Amino acid sequence: MDFKLTEEQEDIRRAAREFAEKEFTKELIEECDREEKYPMELVKKARKLGFSTLKIPEEYGGMGLTLLEECLVTEEFYRVSPGLGNACMSSTFGTELLELFGSEEQKEKYLRWVTEKDAISAMASTEPGAGSDVASVKTKIVKEGDEWVINGTKTFITNGTVCDFVLVLGRTFEGKKRHEGLTFAIVESKWKGFKATKIKNKLGLRASDTAEIVLKDVRVPEENILGQPGQGFYQLMEFFNHTRPRVAAQGVGIAQGALELAISYVKQRKQFDQPIASFQHTQFKLAEIATRIQAARLLTWQAAWYCSIGKARPELSSMAKWFAGETAVMAADWCVQFHGGYGYIGEYPAERYYRDAKIVEIYEGVKEIQKQIIARQLLGKI
Ligand SMILES: Cc1cc2nc3c(=O)[nH]c(=O)nc-3n(C[C@H](O)[C@H](O)[C@H](O)COP(=O)(O)OP(=O)(O)OC[C@H]3O[C@@H](n4cnc5c(N)ncnc54)[C@H](O)[C@@H]3O)c2cc1C
Repeated sequence: MDFKLTEEQEDIRRAAREFAEKEFTKELIEECDREEKYPMELVKKARKLGFSTLKIPEEYGGMGLTLLEECLVTEEFYRVSPGLGNACMSSTFGTELLELFGSEEQKEKYLRWVTEKDAISAMASTEPGAGSDVASVKTKIVKEGDEWVINGTKTFITNGTVCDFVLVLGRTFEGKKRHEGLTFAIVESKWKGFKATKIKNKLGLRASDTAEIVLKDVRVPEENILGQPGQGFYQLMEFFNHTRPRVAAQGVGIAQGALELAISYVKQRKQFDQPIASFQHTQFKLAEIATRIQAARLLTWQAAWYCSIGKARPELSSMAKWFAGETAVMAADWCVQFHGGYGYIGEYPAERYYRDAKIVEIYEGVKEIQKQIIARQLLGKI
């Protein structure tokens, strides 16, 4: 892979930076964080410019670009505000499943709803008892006549209370192994039996909507089953191969934002009659963080590039997500450290990066699961 971005990619990156710097105002960032408010107007603005539908094929109204361009935009958005960035870029979360496995009719209906009518999507696999262990999903999807009936509870679902439809993972039959028998169904939030409740008081990403979803006798037409029943687990694993580089880009953006904030602070803050930037320890730490960010960025681009040529490499996607997550947490931690006591106070943005960074090590697979995937690739079957 050639690591030099094309002119078009540089243009997209620049446009994303300009948008984020102009539209993610200090007031909006603070208000949405403080009040845990979903910035619907901002999301609509970003959608109008195509930032969240970059990767959806042109034939369904998207921009027809690749995951690499999506990663560039994601980094720029998260650099300015992880919370607002998440609200905008995750507003089409789950559509990757439709792109990868949807029937022509499903793509025509649901992708077009997203691109032409700004529908917000979601993906629900996690349950109170099933997080990293996806195969233990208990939600039931049972056939009744020519419909399927869903019962179960999903938790921590991004966009749960604002989405128009959600791809729900449930069990359609008991297979020989636990991960067999799982199936995705496309569920519209307006259908009877769908109830979403916002989860409040998150540590970070407070502008992003996170919800518990209870599905009680929700009736789904046959044509809303994704692929063949029993393919859900495999579809989810492939989905993650394609979405983890974007989570990695979130980490790169958060780390970059925290680094820039730290640099501007250490140059102006004086102690012992000198800027704290003049201490060698400060300089070495900044150098270390900057190097890690660049390594995480290139790993992210490489993982995304493999996805864009249709040859996703699970271990690269996991390496990027794990490394970029750790880098974001480290950069945000040092950003607070350089701010001293001021970094511990809510009025300073350092504290917000610190709270926002942690999620990159948790969602779409905790860091331990990423390391497991990398090790499995190294060791094969043992
Ligand atoms: C803000 C937010 C948004 C989210 N959005 C979504 C969404 O849109 N859709 C969705 O389906 N889910 C979503 N999630 C859920 C997220 O993906 C899960 O929280 C995550 O996968 C971890 O699952 P868990 O919370 O049940 O933790 P657990 O699986 O219980 O893991 C807890 C800890 O146990 C340890 N652990 C677990 N398994 C292993 C192992 N095999 N080896 C070593 N250690 C292990 C790790 O230290 C891990 O951190 C979201 C979560 C949050 C917080």
